[in-house]
Amino acid sequence: TEACLEAIEAAGALNAFVHKTPEIARKRAQAADARIKSGDAPAMCGIPVGIKDLFCTKGVPSQAASNILRNFRPEYESTVSQQLMDAGAVMLGKLNMDEFAMGSSNETSCYGNAVNPWRRGNDDAQLTPGGSSGGSASAVAADLCLAATGTDTGGSIRQPAAFTGITGIKPTYGRCSRWGIVAFASSLDQAGPMTKDVRDAAIMLGAMCGHDPKDSTSADIPVPDFEAALTGDIRGKKIGIPREYRMDGMPDEIEALWAKGTEMMRDAGAEIVDISLPHTKYALPAYYVVAPAEASSNLARYDGVRYGHRAKLAQGDGITEMYEKTRAEGFGHEVQRRVMIGTYVLSAGFYDAYYNRARKVRALIKKDFEDVFADGIDAILTPATPSAAFGLGEMADADPIAMYLNDVFTVTVNLAGLPGISVPAGLDRQGLPLGLQLIGRPWEEGDLLNHAYVLE
Ligand code: GLN
Repeated sequence: TEACLEAIEAAGALNAFVHKTPEIARKRAQAADARIKSGDAPAMCGIPVGIKDLFCTKGVPSQAASNILRNFRPEYESTVSQQLMDAGAVMLGKLNMDEFAMGSSNETSCYGNAVNPWRRGNDDAQLTPGGSSGGSASAVAADLCLAATGTDTGGSIRQPAAFTGITGIKPTYGRCSRWGIVAFASSLDQAGPMTKDVRDAAIMLGAMCGHDPKDSTSADIPVPDFEAALTGDIRGKKIGIPREYRMDGMPDEIEALWAKGTEMMRDAGAEIVDISLPHTKYALPAYYVVAPAEASSNLARYDGVRYGHRAKLAQGDGITEMYEKTRAEGFGHEVQRRVMIGTYVLSAGFYDAYYNRARKVRALIKKDFEDVFADGIDAILTPATPSAAFGLGEMADADPIAMYLNDVFTVTVNLAGLPGISVPAGLDRQGLPLGLQLIGRPWEEGDLLNHAYVLE
């Protein structure tokens, strides 16, 4: 814990930690010490971790990287962070992210972006750690903590993990409680671990998940010992390679990485099968209707009355002006864009054309996966991202679609509610990390982690 606290001070330029909690950390580290000495050390005992700013942490600022939640200190602790604490983990502080988890580069944060500790060759230009869990990824990659929590609505654990050379798993929807996590798109949001390797991910996931009556979508399904599943034996397993993920204009480095991953699985005794997920091309547009729709509804609660920021009002301003001014000041551009898109696609005249159609597409995407799993496929291998980490400021705010394209390989997993993992799988020509994604059957995270274990 002390070493991490020092490293955090030394790495201020990464802007990964946005609230530091050294006193809490030292107190919990001492308590963990005592537990270890008494021979009662749970899974995460004494392990220093960072918590994404999206998680409510009791008495500690929890702002979802938004000005609208400025100085918000929750009265309660999220279930996931509570479970980690109960398992002995030591919270070092809160981690940077995109505002309300909307983004792929960490550039929508009200604190300014976190920075990727990696550089392109000898080039000094700063790169994005990815998003939205960019602070988490940067902190783990730079050894500021041993592990961090992330959340993933459309790729926000897996894309930053790939950009920073770490491991990140989004569990099956319902595996981790969403209680106390600031909601973005409730039918897609899941928490998960971001760690240095697959074994750490297995241990931390075990500590984070489980049934929680406070979240009506939390599943009452037993949590197996994920670490025990890491045998490295995948002989006879069937790995699907979905042809629709082979996109036009895909960089050859990504192709080569994918081929290398396929070979590693074959060498380990798995059978490689060409598969089709025919509705893949509709996933990104469907996601960018469903996610903003749910976001516009979830974010209606930030009205200047209940949380955080309230605009200064002029003489004669009424409640409408109070809402308008507060939301205009408190939300950043990307969040405003999502609220407007969401409101539009849910409006009476356009509901069927957009929202309902996107929901139907979502059902078809889910069915594509069910069909291949019913055919005996055990895991699906794809690239995690279409490129390595890009430069900060390179994807201008003027073209949000270019930014959304980052999520092309990851959003299908959220739409279908499946578990997906990104593992570091090599470096590109400029020495930047690249990740491979494995997608598994629902509730079989142990098996998925074991497949990833073979790639590491
Ligand atoms: N980049 C995607 C978005 O902006 C995914 C974000 C996430 O998973 N939280 O919506």
